[in-house]
Amino acid sequence: VITVIRAKRPTSSVPGGETFTGSVWKEGILPRADGVSMGSVHFAPGARTHWHTHEGGQILIVVAGEGLVGDADGVVRIAAGDVAWTPGGVRHWHGATQERHMLHTAISLAGVTWHEALADEGYLAAVASGDV
Ligand code: MN
Repeated sequence: VITVIRAKRPTSSVPGGETFTGSVWKEGILPRADGVSMGSVHFAPGARTHWHTHEGGQILIVVAGEGLVGDADGVVRIAAGDVAWTPGGVRHWHGATQERHMLHTAISLAGVTWHEALADEGYLAAVASGDV
């Protein structure tokens, strides 16, 4: 059976909640089924996720703006049109840059485990070190 996801959905944007820092809004696209979930996440400038891991990995498709994705190996700048793959079990975070918002589509495989917030100090260091 094929599932078609219409662009016009009766979905409300909801605040990112306690696993994010800054102003974040989310919209569900595909509720978790068969271990896969999909949603849009909008980060205001400076906003980012807490550290977290996805059991099966995650694909991020950047739709608008510019952001950062970081793990223990460093930080990479991502912009509209870029696609980032984070393998399962890798501790990471993602969010906007300081100057620009970022809207990404996130396709997440299996469960997610949330860890601590990325403190301002770590975020600012990441912004400074992110490859351009
Ligand atoms: Mn993630």
